[in-house]
Amino acid sequence: MTQHRPLRVAIVGTGFSGLGMAIRLQQEGEHDLVLLERAGDIGGTWRDNTYPGCRCDVPSHLYSFSFAPNPNWSSTFSPQPEILDYLRETASRHGILPHVSFHTELESASWDDEHQHWRIETSQGAMTADVLVAAQGPLSDPSMPNVPGIDTFEGTAFHSAQWDHEHDLEGERVAVIGTGASAIQFVPEIQPRVGKLHVFQRTAPWVIPHRNRPMTRVERALYRLFPPAQLAMRAGIYWARESFVLQFRRRAVGKLLERISLKHLESQVKDPELREKLTPRYRMGCKRILPTDEWYPALVKPNVEVVTEAITEVRPHSIVTADGSEREVDTIIYGTGFHVTDVPIANRIRGREGRTLAQVWSGSMQAYKGTTVAGYPNLFFLVGPNTGLGHTSIVFMIESQINYVLDALHTMRHSGASTVEVRAEAQAAYNAELDRMTEGTVWVSGGCQSYYIDRNGHNSTLWPTYTWPFRQRTREFDEAAYALGVRVSTNGAGHDRAAAAHA
Ligand SMILES: Cc1cc2nc3c(=O)[nH]c(=O)nc-3n(C[C@H](O)[C@H](O)[C@H](O)COP(=O)(O)OP(=O)(O)OC[C@H]3O[C@@H](n4cnc5c(N)ncnc54)[C@H](O)[C@@H]3O)c2cc1C
Repeated sequence: MTQHRPLRVAIVGTGFSGLGMAIRLQQEGEHDLVLLERAGDIGGTWRDNTYPGCRCDVPSHLYSFSFAPNPNWSSTFSPQPEILDYLRETASRHGILPHVSFHTELESASWDDEHQHWRIETSQGAMTADVLVAAQGPLSDPSMPNVPGIDTFEGTAFHSAQWDHEHDLEGERVAVIGTGASAIQFVPEIQPRVGKLHVFQRTAPWVIPHRNRPMTRVERALYRLFPPAQLAMRAGIYWARESFVLQFRRRAVGKLLERISLKHLESQVKDPELREKLTPRYRMGCKRILPTDEWYPALVKPNVEVVTEAITEVRPHSIVTADGSEREVDTIIYGTGFHVTDVPIANRIRGREGRTLAQVWSGSMQAYKGTTVAGYPNLFFLVGPNTGLGHTSIVFMIESQINYVLDALHTMRHSGASTVEVRAEAQAAYNAELDRMTEGTVWVSGGCQSYYIDRNGHNSTLWPTYTWPFRQRTREFDEAAYALGVRVSTNGAGHDRAAAAHA
């Protein structure tokens, strides 16, 4: 795929972020773009997570693009195959697929200050691009626990994001490690099929009743024939979910929801000993709140054991816990999440001074408006640092960022600038403000360990408040926070260099 002419835009990833970016770029008349996708299909999260029971936990009317409403969702929280179909159909309808370079992993990207573009090495060859959009996903690289002996296990083992559909779990002794958002969806699906299920829980999640239901034919017909009705529903869901922020910021609201959750536990788990194990010991919201009606009923089944002792070792056919117990298992399923605060792409992107983002960040990701980073011109993150959410649809954040990137490119075109680079002071002030907003919230004072908080104890993932202020902040590209570089030709052969930067 070696290409010598610089492309205008290279986008890494084809999930909601990469596809949304490409669609909107094309709508704005920018067709000189490529999407680099390491896999053989589009879809990101919704291509990789095919485990039984996988579905979104934000209502589909909101967990979809505003510019591509789908009147045909089968249920209020749609299952994974439908979301993947939606992404495929939307990408195809907008003519994105010809721009995707499949099986093409971005291996490194280095800023070339002389020529003012990104030098990109991929698994399929080298290329250059004026602008790099990193839409590699917040939850796209599975994380495995650090337990001695994991590699010695001789049975079947896989991560929930790499489900082994060839493997039949019927009648097996299965260990599930982790009780997060994925495990609570697949455990109830596999429990009736397996012989014995050991669920290894480090921390009990807060679980709330789930309001999933099939969409009626009348609703679907209404949305098809009268699209404003779906828009109104979307708006209603959006504002209802915004009110969830109160639970993170106001203790009284948090306590009320904790009571609802504990009632849910009491009504579904009668055994006091098991209930004790399943009662969270930290404040609700500190980790992701999990909506499900099926989790507790699965755990009370006679073939299920909830193990709260820490795992100390994995042996060829068993798992050993801190109390010395050993459980023989045929299969281990890791529901252990993703590299969230240590995104692998940070090791692959080098900025103006040749340092990787991982070196600059030292364990605490940081950006301006979750999108741009000082020292890394013409680089835009989607779902970058501090854009994650615990209460509503990330697609809202993605679309906000896409608008911001489009306006940045628009500004470059109109001002003749070849580079935009956020000023270090603007980035520092923005992050100081985020730190102030995070102070006292449940995420840092709720008494849990979560993937929201990085190894330095810092919130580098979550947007700490309502999402509408983020939309306001990203509505327009704020040129004053940036240095704009202008390319001038130094010789007739078109050898260019950065000439100036202005406010
Ligand atoms: C099971 C599950 C359920 C979820 N449910 C919800 C929900 O209900 N609501 C919600 O708001 N969020 C949910 N999320 C979060 C979800 O990750 C985001 O909503 C959204 O899908 C992120 O889209 P993305 O395009 O940014 O990233 P992704 O969908 O992860 O896409 C990233 C893409 O980049 C590719 N890629 C990565 N690195 C490279 C590289 N170096 N070179 C080339 N390609 C690369 C990957 O292969 C992938 O295709 C869920 C996540 C999971 C795992």
